[in-house]
Amino acid sequence: MSTDEQQKADCFICRKHRGEIIIPGGAIYEDDIVYAGHLRTGAHPTYLGYLMAETKRHTPGLAELTDQEAQALGLLVTRLSRALKACEGAEHIYSFVLGPDVPHMHIHVVPRYPGAPREYWGTRVDEWPDAPHGDAQEIIALCERLRKYLQKEAC
Ligand SMILES: [Zn+2]
Repeated sequence: MSTDEQQKADCFICRKHRGEIIIPGGAIYEDDIVYAGHLRTGAHPTYLGYLMAETKRHTPGLAELTDQEAQALGLLVTRLSRALKACEGAEHIYSFVLGPDVPHMHIHVVPRYPGAPREYWGTRVDEWPDAPHGDAQEIIALCERLRKYLQKEAC
């Protein structure tokens, strides 16, 4: 197996897209180019509405996207943001590309909810203790609302 093939075989995001790793809520949106799902964090209740928008292709980052992938990802981030505002009451949406830990293009799409204290604004917004957090069942219900919104542009 080549290095590239081995990376795809081991990659968390590729494995998720292939259905080898199951995440609560599953795909909120998926086509041949992009995929969106909800983040799930370990043993603690998860910050609700914390989404990931990803390319289907195993490619490391923004600079390596094709024009078609960049357009599809941008549109997906905007549609997810609309859904988070309409269905979950988010007052602002953060979107960012971070870590080198997973070498597969993924954009964090993170809602800020009304009442979030200023010191938590930005990339620490999910650390606000009073923010909506939930278990797998709540994530599944949230993903269902977003999926429905993306299909019908209504909650
Ligand atoms: Zn991958």
